[in-house]
Amino acid sequence: MALERLEGAGGRLMGTSHRQPPVRQLVHRVREGLGQLFDIPDGYEVVLGNGGATCFWDVAVYSLIERRSQHLVFGEFSSKFAKEAKGAPHLDAPEVIETPPGTHPEPRENPEVDCYCMTHNETSTGVAMPIERLGSSEQLVLVDATSAAGGVEVDIRATDAYYFSPQKCFASEGGLWLAVLSPLAQERARRLGSSSRWVPGFLDLVAAIDNSKLNQTVNTPAVATLFLLAEQVEWMLDHGGMSWAAARSRQSAEIVYTWAQQSWFASPFVARPEDRSPVVATIDLDPRVSAEEVSRVLRANGIVDTDSYRKLGRNQLRLGLFPAVDPEDVRHLTEAISWVVERLHHEDSD
Ligand SMILES: *Cc1c(COP(=O)(O)O)cnc(C)c1O
Repeated sequence: MALERLEGAGGRLMGTSHRQPPVRQLVHRVREGLGQLFDIPDGYEVVLGNGGATCFWDVAVYSLIERRSQHLVFGEFSSKFAKEAKGAPHLDAPEVIETPPGTHPEPRENPEVDCYCMTHNETSTGVAMPIERLGSSEQLVLVDATSAAGGVEVDIRATDAYYFSPQKCFASEGGLWLAVLSPLAQERARRLGSSSRWVPGFLDLVAAIDNSKLNQTVNTPAVATLFLLAEQVEWMLDHGGMSWAAARSRQSAEIVYTWAQQSWFASPFVARPEDRSPVVATIDLDPRVSAEEVSRVLRANGIVDTDSYRKLGRNQLRLGLFPAVDPEDVRHLTEAISWVVERLHHEDSD
């Protein structure tokens, strides 16, 4: 649907300079739409820039973390941000609280840190954690919401930077980062920007804030990415907004986890039901069934990307349950997996 409109209305925007009204209008749609979707309080700003969530980690290292951060590490993505903070020569060694894949750590108040860094949904393991504010009014709560934003409800007041890329729940393409920033986060960026710290131009959050307020980006964005994002946000709003989108993912998750628990060969990887992600389901398979082979057969039949996160090293399928996916399609997927497994298993036991 959105792809068809990209050919039509979107096509007329392609090739337009990002300082010209048609693209600025598009950025305006994105900022307005996300503001509504997240119900942002006065003073919060929707800010965007090029580079994806991976780039925002470095933006945070320069423009948000003052001296020392706390990181909850429970998978690949959360560990990458902690690694950036650890390597930054201008910061003290971060406090890292780590738990094994399939669980999540709890944040701990610590007056020695100035940023609490959390991940709303750890995409590599399929664990979601609740986002709650902690600490003093001088400490920032930074949330990597790349795979959660738009598919899991959040109280944006509990966060100072709720950041994400548009290619997951927002069914767009990669390449951009978006961040909902509190007044405190904006102040922190301005203070660090005017201190003696050197901030690389591309990672300067103040430049991104000032450009975003003018519905621009610091450098040229991909117009198609913005177009697909704007369409997806408006589609969510037209159907009832955040609560509707989150309910749709929860419904898909219910289908997958129930199917897994009822089948002889599948079980949810995440032990505690309340930690199981509603947007990315990780399903372990019985050792008699090879997840790699199941994924290979599915791919050959047009069902792609059911593979687990390779570094996790498990006999596992990982399924995206983003709001754009119709829960009925998820039901068909579980049926397709059962069909493939029954036949593979049957061949083996012949
Ligand atoms: C996908 C993902 C990222 C990386 O996003 P990019 O757009 O590739 O930079 C970061 N964090 C989480 C939680 C993700 O799921």
